[in-house]
Order: sequence, then structure tokens, then C-alpha cells
Amino acid sequence: MGIRIVPTSGADLNQSNKLLDRLDKAGRDSVQYFAKNFLSSETIPDFCTIEIETQNRCNNDCPFCPVNRHNDTRKPAVMTEDLFYSIINQLCAMDYHGSISLFSNNEPLLDGRILKFIEHARKLLPNAKHTLYTNGTLLNAEKFSVLVRNLDLLIVDNYDDNFKLIPSVKKVLDSTPPPHDFKCDVQISMRKKIRSSIPAQAPRLTDLMKKINFDRNRRAFCRSRK
Ligand code: SF4
Repeated sequence: MGIRIVPTSGADLNQSNKLLDRLDKAGRDSVQYFAKNFLSSETIPDFCTIEIETQNRCNNDCPFCPVNRHNDTRKPAVMTEDLFYSIINQLCAMDYHGSISLFSNNEPLLDGRILKFIEHARKLLPNAKHTLYTNGTLLNAEKFSVLVRNLDLLIVDNYDDNFKLIPSVKKVLDSTPPPHDFKCDVQISMRKKIRSSIPAQAPRLTDLMKKINFDRNRRAFCRSRK
């Protein structure tokens, strides 16, 4: 466990399409596998992955994303607290121990209730795996502290076309002193907003190497105590 910074180019459209092809096949295979087992089973298997989207907006502007703040066509919606607590209570009653994420197609930190929701979910579902993705723009030291005390995995999608840490994420990492006593695995995923099929615009290897070196330093610096 600890903080890892992972370089992710996302820059080569051809590679993305190949990946999507592979994911399509993997998706088809897994659906067929699930359907075969589901139809031959006498009992309905429990689900093992849950995403709860407590509000349906993102504050970022990634041009490739259909729910970026300029393109989202969904009617704004916020889940009621009664519904949220009802879902958690039902999961608690069945001793749910799969994966649970309080986000889906949105930026979870836009919801001012999200930290108390996460604390509540952790308390009632101690055996579940609690995961969150955020774009990190609204992250600060206080929120980070609550998140890493209650999550098993926190992934920060750090969107910056120069593979730099965005200011909010940099500030959090700089202000998080070692040693870290949290058990949460924190991954900073370095991502580009701009995606290009032109090879000359793909990230240079030297850029990636800088990030790998930085990753090693950061990992050595930030490894948590377990
Ligand atoms: S941060 Fe994620 S959800 Fe928000 S616009 Fe970018 S890709 Fe879409």
C-alpha cells in the first residue's frame, strides 16, 4: 500500500481502438460466461461490484468525454440521502463483501456529502472493498485524509497534457508527511486530455521516463507503514 504515480499516455488513438477491440471481446466472453453459469445455477449468484452515483455531474472538460461539463446532456440529478442509506442498509443486511464505489460517470467530490457517505459505507460494510476514482481537482489535505482512512483504493486521474501534477494534487502530496499509517492504496494516474492519432504528438519516451523516476522517488518517500 502507499502512493503510486502511474504514467498513462492515452495519446495513441490506434492503440485505444485496439484496446477497445480487446475489451469488446473480453466483454463478450465475460457476458457469455456469466449467462452460462447464471442459467445453469439453481440460485441467483450474488453481485460482487457496485457503483453508486450520488450526483451525476463532472467539473472537468476532457474533450473525449461525453459527460465533461460542456457536453453532458443528462438532466442534473442528486440521490436522496434516504435512498443512499437504504442501499447501504440493505448491503449491510446481506453482509456484502464485494467491491463498492461511490461514483460512476461523475466526479464524486462534487457531492458535498460524499465524505460522510464514504465513512458511513465503511462503517456498515467493513468487509467490502471500498474504491473511489476522482479527477483530483477538488482534493485537499482534509478530504485526502478522510478518503485514505476509509478507502481500500483511491485512484486520482490526474489530467494534464504535460504529465504534470495538477496544483490540487501536488499540494496534497507535498503536504502529506510520511510516515503514512493508512492502509489505502493511492494511485495517481497521469493522463492526457488531448488524444492524438498523430505519432509525432504521442508522448516522448523521455517524458515517460521522467515520470517513472518521479514515481520511484515518490514511492520510496510515501510508502505507508503496514
Ligand atoms: S474527469 Fe473523467 S468524467 Fe470528468 S470529464 Fe474527464 S474523463 Fe469525463
